[in-house]
Amino acid sequence: MIIEGERVLLIDERGRRYLVKAGKKQLQTNLGIINLGEAIGKEPGERLRSHLGKEFVLLRPSIVDYLQKIRRVPQIMLPKDAAQIIAHTGVGPGSLVVEGGTGSGSLTIFLGNLVRPGGRVVSYEVREDFAKLAEENISIAGLSKIVTVKLRDIYGGIDEQSVDLVTLDLPQPERVLPHAEHALKHGGYLSVFAPCVEHLQRLYRDLQNFNFTNTKTIECLVREFEVNTNCTRPSTRMIAHTGYLTFARRL
Ligand code: SAM
Repeated sequence: MIIEGERVLLIDERGRRYLVKAGKKQLQTNLGIINLGEAIGKEPGERLRSHLGKEFVLLRPSIVDYLQKIRRVPQIMLPKDAAQIIAHTGVGPGSLVVEGGTGSGSLTIFLGNLVRPGGRVVSYEVREDFAKLAEENISIAGLSKIVTVKLRDIYGGIDEQSVDLVTLDLPQPERVLPHAEHALKHGGYLSVFAPCVEHLQRLYRDLQNFNFTNTKTIECLVREFEVNTNCTRPSTRMIAHTGYLTFARRL
């Protein structure tokens, strides 16, 4: 049952989604006004009606719903790339993760959701405005107890020890290698997201000087399908390139 103050997802007949709080406020939409108090006491899957009689499906938001709705300033990591980090590092409940480059907190939220119960994400961000924005997004996703954002330059060091995963999405990941080597447990994973081949070349050059093994780089392409009664085919448009993901294990 939905309780007062709980965040809920409303989906209208055109598929437009609204992430709102069940409470006293009203939601203005092109399909009419909805009293959000009417969500209280309802079960997910039930419907609300606007004053124009239009139906909105009521759901509990998933982590992906939060990720689609967060406020973002720097470029965020897309779920297709975040999913590769999980698949290649096995990070999960109980893991300790250190992230370099919080940005808007998109990957942070993805990871924070996965490491509970028992795990933690510590994310380093050098810009105060981004750190504040990420903390707001993390709070909306209900992950403030799992995630800590540190307003710190990760090139200067990592405080945490016995870390399961150090994941980097920032301009000079090679500068974090000595700190990642020190912070990671033996067998722990390094993951680096880099947009250009030149970044990879610098990373591979410097990785030779540290205790890492099993290094590999992948790129993830996702093609969506348009499913229609008379014609089902791949979508004409797709995101062709976001970045390369490199993984290595601490010896
Ligand atoms: N992965 C993030 C997400 O999914 O929202 C986006 C990261 S964004 C592309 C890169 C971030 O790294 C920026 O917010 C930038 O301020 C931060 N950054 C750059 N250099 C840094 C450093 N030395 N230490 C900590 N953060 C840094």
